[in-house]
Amino acid sequence: MFILLFTKGLIKAQAFTITLSMGISYDQAVIDIIKAGNRLDDLGLAPATSGNYSIRTDDNKMAITVSGAHKGMLCAEDVMRADLSGNVLEDKKPSAETLLHCLIYKLFPKVNAVLHTHSVACSVLTRVIKSGEPVILQGYEMLKAYPSVNTHEACVKLPVFDNTQDMEILSSLVEPVLQQSPDIPAFLIRCHGIYGWGEDMAEAMRVIEATEMLLSCEMNIKLMNSTKGQ
Ligand SMILES: [Zn+2]
Repeated sequence: MFILLFTKGLIKAQAFTITLSMGISYDQAVIDIIKAGNRLDDLGLAPATSGNYSIRTDDNKMAITVSGAHKGMLCAEDVMRADLSGNVLEDKKPSAETLLHCLIYKLFPKVNAVLHTHSVACSVLTRVIKSGEPVILQGYEMLKAYPSVNTHEACVKLPVFDNTQDMEILSSLVEPVLQQSPDIPAFLIRCHGIYGWGEDMAEAMRVIEATEMLLSCEMNIKLMNSTKGQ
């Protein structure tokens, strides 16, 4: 099913345009976040009210989705202002995972957009990856969607962190790994989802779509290997 969903998304990709400028205004960030929600929902990457999205704004704060909104049906009221430490700047409740967005902006000054999605491929694949091991992606043309990769011969290792509801603990685990490997385009949370980012929303979207597609490939390979000889 996930393959069909992704194929549908690829067809729609031609119609997806988003602002490419850096340091955009809050109002433009709201528009881009709503577009991102529509796009990711079309791809099957925003089931229920899952996921959260943010953009660093030109006043060095961020626009981030509120908690509990369906990302395929976002309106301007479902996006809010917060500072880059996660302090809210208006009377709304931000995503429970705001601290992870703050961490990514803190570590990567060039990053201006962060996307977090939940998917079947990520949830299933990370269930069978042993603790402490990354998901290894190698030999795929799609790897070139990542900003630091220019050949299918690259080997990209996406770290997998155990899920927890405590974002301070999760942030403390993610931070040293991203510091050691600043070229990592995304990380995974076990049985939960993906975090991907970019210099703008278009790049973050490219990273998320590529990662989701590549995880689907890896899941299918494991499935084929497990049924060989049956
Ligand atoms: Zn999540």
